[in-house]
Amino acid sequence: MNEVITVNGDSSAARLMEVQRRIAAACGRCGRDPETVQLLAVSKTVAPEAVRALYDCGQRIFGESRIQEAVQKIPLCPGDIQWHMIGHLQTNKVAAAVRGFSVFHSLDSLRVIQALGSAAEIAGSRVQAYLQVNVSGESAKYGMAPADLPEALEVLSEIYSIEVAGLMTIPPFAPDPEAARPHFRALRELRDRTEAACNCSLPGLSMGMTHDLEVAVEEGATCVRVGSALFGERR
Ligand SMILES: *Cc1c(COP(=O)(O)O)cnc(C)c1O
Repeated sequence: MNEVITVNGDSSAARLMEVQRRIAAACGRCGRDPETVQLLAVSKTVAPEAVRALYDCGQRIFGESRIQEAVQKIPLCPGDIQWHMIGHLQTNKVAAAVRGFSVFHSLDSLRVIQALGSAAEIAGSRVQAYLQVNVSGESAKYGMAPADLPEALEVLSEIYSIEVAGLMTIPPFAPDPEAARPHFRALRELRDRTEAACNCSLPGLSMGMTHDLEVAVEEGATCVRVGSALFGERR
């Protein structure tokens, strides 16, 4: 038993170091400080023991995509983890969500914004949230249209319980990571234009996963959401 845990711990450390190396190398290529890129460990489908193994290597920021799975897992994990909700949020789950999560990556409608704002206010908490934008113009499942961003930001400016963290996107999957570059760049440019036009601050760009994190960092990601490179392939 001890031996198994040791082996897990070793591979967690090796995987974490490898992802950190990839982030640092990408930063080196574009003159960025690696400290400006947050690594979010995506632990969906992963057991609490594996979360703990990565935690023991120093990782403190984890992400989950399903509320039901998260409410069971979070109490079994170390209490000082910062949990990020990265999946699509349903309005009927926001009350449970604000109990477990302090950062939300996928606000994509006024309804969800209002619901999360009320739930956080009732819970007496202030959450951070990214607006998920569909910059690819393709039939992505989730994400608001860039044109809807100004109204969402105006609504958010009245909601004290949500602090706007920035923008998030999920590009259409393509095996070649370079295919994601135009979408990541579009998100950054949209951010720059929106900040200027709305006189608001959108500091964070949540973009990039295991297979395209380098491209995302080169295009300005401040948070990369990485699952399989840290925990192995999901079944
Ligand atoms: C699962 C997931 C990730 C992590 O994907 P990997 O390819 O395993 O790194 C990142 N972001 C979101 C929104 C996800 O659902």
